[in-house]
Amino acid sequence: MITIKSNREIELMKIAGNIVYRTHEYLKPFLKEGITTKELDRLAETFIRSQDAIPSFKGYGGFPGSICTSINNQVVHGIPGNRKLKNGDIISIDIGACYRGFHGDSAWTHPIGKIDEDKKYLLKHTEQALYEGIKQVRPGARVGDIGAAIEAYANKYQLGVVKELVGHGIGTNVHEDPEVPNYGQKGTGPLLKEGMVIAIEPMLNLGSPDVYILDDNWTIETDDESPSAHFEHTVAVTKDGYKILTGE
Ligand code: MG
Ligand code: MG
Repeated sequence: MITIKSNREIELMKIAGNIVYRTHEYLKPFLKEGITTKELDRLAETFIRSQDAIPSFKGYGGFPGSICTSINNQVVHGIPGNRKLKNGDIISIDIGACYRGFHGDSAWTHPIGKIDEDKKYLLKHTEQALYEGIKQVRPGARVGDIGAAIEAYANKYQLGVVKELVGHGIGTNVHEDPEVPNYGQKGTGPLLKEGMVIAIEPMLNLGSPDVYILDDNWTIETDDESPSAHFEHTVAVTKDGYKILTGE
């Protein structure tokens, strides 16, 4: 069931989303060679809780971390642990925060130190693919318009679109209907209406789109070990377009 949020509910989601945004900003100066993903997890959790919010992912389906930390060929759902970041790595950090019962969800991928040109290209175009998807959002558009725009952009830059994982509706649950795939046909799928809130989240690979899940039952990696990037925003459908809730 797709829920429509009231203005009041969207205001609360904007607060939750802004906490997610500020958690990302807070982590930025720590993203250096030598820090472990577990340390990042602890920093994020402490910050989120200091804002009267709860990390959305902690314990979600049994997930052990407060945030997801996915390095290089890891696509999403990396579990924070003792791995240390190295110069030349890229790390996707996915953060969810729940404030007064409403969730915000957003992922950014960062370079650690100096990264190679291929990884720069991947980050730049995955972030842009997110905005190509967001630009489709308005009442009367369809979910397939978002996926079609992301897929067309990824194809143009020869990046592999991960199809096994999709964006989603969001509200009092971190994952709600509808599914928001990063591929699809324009003019198909559920109709977007004012008051819907969705998380749009392209996951693009420098190589093949194929992925597999590790034995930890969480971490998703690329089949060909090529690097992968992930950018995500929580976006509300407004009267005449959209509003990004996981921003400033
Ligand atoms: Mg997320
Ligand atoms: Mg999400």
